[in-house]
Amino acid sequence: MQIVILGAGYAGLRAAIDLDHLLRERKRTDTVILVDQFPYHQLVQVLHHTVASNAPVQDAIYDLAALLRTSGVRFVQGRASRLALHERQVELEDGQRLAYDRLVITLGAETAYQVPGAQAHTLDLRTYEHALRLRAHLIAQFTAAAKTTDPNEQRILLTTAIVGGSYTGCQLAGELAAWVDDLCRETGAPRTQVRIALIERGHLLLQEFGSWATREAERALDALGVSVYLDTAVESVEPQTLRVEGKRVLRAATLVWAAGVKGPDLLRESGLPVDATGHVRTDRYLRVLENPLIFAAGDCAAIPDLVEGQVPATASYAMRQGSHLAETLLAEIEGRSIRTYEPVRLGGLVSLGPEYAVGNPLGVPVSGYPAVLMKKGIESWYRSTLTVKA
Ligand SMILES: Cc1cc2nc3c(=O)[nH]c(=O)nc-3n(C[C@H](O)[C@H](O)[C@H](O)COP(=O)(O)OP(=O)(O)OC[C@H]3O[C@@H](n4cnc5c(N)ncnc54)[C@H](O)[C@@H]3O)c2cc1C
Repeated sequence: MQIVILGAGYAGLRAAIDLDHLLRERKRTDTVILVDQFPYHQLVQVLHHTVASNAPVQDAIYDLAALLRTSGVRFVQGRASRLALHERQVELEDGQRLAYDRLVITLGAETAYQVPGAQAHTLDLRTYEHALRLRAHLIAQFTAAAKTTDPNEQRILLTTAIVGGSYTGCQLAGELAAWVDDLCRETGAPRTQVRIALIERGHLLLQEFGSWATREAERALDALGVSVYLDTAVESVEPQTLRVEGKRVLRAATLVWAAGVKGPDLLRESGLPVDATGHVRTDRYLRVLENPLIFAAGDCAAIPDLVEGQVPATASYAMRQGSHLAETLLAEIEGRSIRTYEPVRLGGLVSLGPEYAVGNPLGVPVSGYPAVLMKKGIESWYRSTLTVKA
């Protein structure tokens, strides 16, 4: 059989590594092809460190060819542009076509820009490239602020507005607030003019964790100097300008959009069943509805869950779905029946700067430095899984 896995993120890479291991254990010679637009696996969970810390920027990526060198997985770098469902082929932007017997879609999510001007005038943070661009942009604004004596211009150059108070927005705001002292020292920008605003349309930050986490997050971000605006909906974006309800205006040279996600357009365009936000709909086996040869997992998928309605989109779920798919694909190859996917609820942790985190690992609310240590431990554990077993 030929298995094609699209996307080498948390779900896709895990599926590829685990399936390869299972096949080699059984001395099977089925082909596993892993496709990604980038030559590296990105640790999306640490991209806010890449943007705004002195950690080596390369910490967030792993070279896929090197990682898979001793495996039987064939890595193809390319951007999937079309799924030819009737021909059972995937088309890449460079014209390559990959035939499949089973297809796995683990392409992650894309940023959804819900208001006019947001796409054109904001930066986002979903990939390593985005992180490098945002870092370079911030350094350029701070450097420019050091060169001007006009206080109004300085203030705009040194203001960052982040729209969206979930994982991405909170973690970026916290990390950036802790980094600006170093950035001001290095660039000569005046520290007193620096402003960081975190803007959330709803009345809770980190709403997936509940109101206690909101209070913790607000307190921690406030201590770092971040101004949090809840119940504040951005209506439109212009260059260096956010217009919020009531026609108030916020001027900022750095605007970051972290306020919504959608499934990749490719899925809808290829005729797969998608929900209102473009996520591909699966059954509880992670099989795409009406497409028995195609499976999907991670942030691009809408997976039904008896408890929460839909399985949450986080790295921990994505990775475990990848492992589940490896077992499923082996069963398909061996002609056995497949098992339903049962989400394991491990909770989550969100960093708010380098010295504070909040979350509910295994359902237990934790905050402060112990939560930071837990988060670091999980990250180290994840890094340790990025190896191919002999
Ligand atoms: C800044 C940030 C911080 C986060 N922090 C946390 C956290 O602390 N904890 C947590 O649990 N979750 C966190 N998340 C969410 C978590 O990162 C996602 O849930 C997780 O990445 C989903 O894994 P995935 O495999 O579905 O997608 P991804 O990891 O996004 O992987 C998708 C892959 O598909 C590739 N791809 C996309 N389109 C194409 C194409 N057309 N052709 C070829 N390849 C393509 C991409 O290059 C990528 O490698 C965070 C997200 C962000 C943005």
